[in-house]
Amino acid sequence: MKEYNLKIRERESYDVIVAGGGIAGVAAAVAAARGGAETLLIEKSVNLGGLATNGLISWYEPLCDGQGNQMVKGIAEELIKLCSQNSFDNIPKCWGGSGHNASRNERYSTYFSPTVFSAALDEFVVNSGVKLRFDTLTTYPIMNGNICEGVITESVSGAEFFGAKIVIDATGDASVIHRAGMPTVEGKNYMTYVAHYCDVTGAERLCSDADFSAFRKWMGIGSDMFGNGHPEGMKRISGTNTDDITEYMLTGKACLLKKIKSMDKDSFDIMTLSFMPQLRTIRRLQGAADFNAVDGETYDDAIGNCGDFRPDGVGKHYQIPFGALYNGNFPNILAAGRVISAPQGDGWEVARVIPNCALTGEAAGKAAALCALSGYSFESIRSEHMDKIFV
Ligand SMILES: Cc1cc2nc3c(=O)[nH]c(=O)nc-3n(C[C@H](O)[C@H](O)[C@H](O)COP(=O)(O)OP(=O)(O)OC[C@H]3O[C@@H](n4cnc5c(N)ncnc54)[C@H](O)[C@@H]3O)c2cc1C
Repeated sequence: MKEYNLKIRERESYDVIVAGGGIAGVAAAVAAARGGAETLLIEKSVNLGGLATNGLISWYEPLCDGQGNQMVKGIAEELIKLCSQNSFDNIPKCWGGSGHNASRNERYSTYFSPTVFSAALDEFVVNSGVKLRFDTLTTYPIMNGNICEGVITESVSGAEFFGAKIVIDATGDASVIHRAGMPTVEGKNYMTYVAHYCDVTGAERLCSDADFSAFRKWMGIGSDMFGNGHPEGMKRISGTNTDDITEYMLTGKACLLKKIKSMDKDSFDIMTLSFMPQLRTIRRLQGAADFNAVDGETYDDAIGNCGDFRPDGVGKHYQIPFGALYNGNFPNILAAGRVISAPQGDGWEVARVIPNCALTGEAAGKAAALCALSGYSFESIRSEHMDKIFV
């Protein structure tokens, strides 16, 4: 190991710092700011939305149970409205959508434009009073025992320290949680690479049906969520090692290029490549409780309800426990989004989709503001104040 004498500029302190501006981080930061907390949101790219926008996952899984009952509410619903407000959608009329293009959809879900949605997320966050820092990597939490005093960031401004009463890890890879010394579990991914493209056939159809949700197409390479299509012999990576990620991205793009070379070059264009690795699971917290997606089970510390996006999940009703968002030995760090404590299997499959990342983000943000401003502990929220957290 080499040692460097690094100068770290000390900057202002916040009630709440949120690391990562994906869907979970956006929901967490907005909820914290609405709760009255001085909130900083740190995002390593220059666009909000994470996998949903930069990662081109432009399908908002359902907020309903598939039998006409709305399950997820709160910021998750504000965001499905926001993603469909300024561009195409296919939300059915019965769920308040325009019904335009909805012949391909029955649930409270939608396709959306990742670019238009991301632009709208800036306004959503800034108008809520959140202080936003783009192009800034949260590198290390500064720990005093098990208490996090704030985070070091790296950006063109150099290394800086921001103090915080509560830190929320919404990084998608739990790097803050991991570097704080909290227990984590790594996932294993099949190789998936998705680009967006448009083609002449789609353009011709667009002229008659004006359905941009069908015009912007996914070019999916590799595996689906069940492992079908995973390249033979390729190792399944977690995504906690840069060499693995580089190889994963090179393989995905090489497969894409192979496919492109087999196509008529005058008939299509690749609209955009993904700006982040499309890994479904990287690393997540081992929390005070696990979310296991048990149909019909309710919890005293439930943060809210959700359904199941999978075809065999129609009619299933779940609650996510607040205990999945923290570990009892670390009093001021919360998890939000796909890094919550949800073992690989049903719990993790359900927790990781966009509406449920918004749900856990919102609950984390509300809890963080309460703790920062009222001095409550996570345990006291869990036993006495869940009415203030429930979404
Ligand atoms: C192939 C694939 C298909 C999917 N299909 C669907 C689907 O159809 N519908 C659906 O609803 N869900 C789908 N999902 C799941 C869903 O898109 C994601 O799980 C969800 O969007 C994750 O949100 P998040 O905010 O928790 O994390 P992320 O989206 O990963 O956001 C994390 C953010 O933190 C930033 N960040 C990371 N580290 C740092 C750091 N150290 N400092 C500062 N910023 C940092 C990142 O740049 C990113 O913006 C899919 C996922 C994959 C991979």
